[in-house]
Amino acid sequence: MIDITNYNNDNIFAKILRKEIPSKKIFENEYVYAFEDISPQAPVHILVIPKLAFCSFNDFSKKADAKFMIEFIKSISLIVEKLELNEGYRLITNVGKYGGQEVPHLHFHLLSGKQIGRMVST
Ligand code: AMP
Repeated sequence: MIDITNYNNDNIFAKILRKEIPSKKIFENEYVYAFEDISPQAPVHILVIPKLAFCSFNDFSKKADAKFMIEFIKSISLIVEKLELNEGYRLITNVGKYGGQEVPHLHFHLLSGKQIGRMVST
């Protein structure tokens, strides 16, 4: 089970940020790094991650300062603009065991390119 209370520097997205393992970059600025999901669930499936160490959305909402939060959210909008997702998209962040989080570094899934299916599978 993943630990989302203590940040683990060895998680795969920390390694991607340090360029220790490759990724297909879509966008980068001072606050975020965005790259293609290795196992896409839609024609567009991008992961947007902060460049600071937050385990999950929970951790981020408690610890990130206001400036970082704003810039993080604005960065997602910049990516949406850059990819011209004019027909819409879905943003998902999974938290912990019940949320189905596999990687303990905050990430938003940005899904688009077709009408995304049911919000929750049973
Ligand atoms: P989650 O279940 O919300 O933690 O999502 C983790 C996501 O990371 C999954 O959609 C995986 O396909 C994706 N993933 C895992 N390893 C990599 C990798 N090396 N490069 C890109 N995406 C990855």
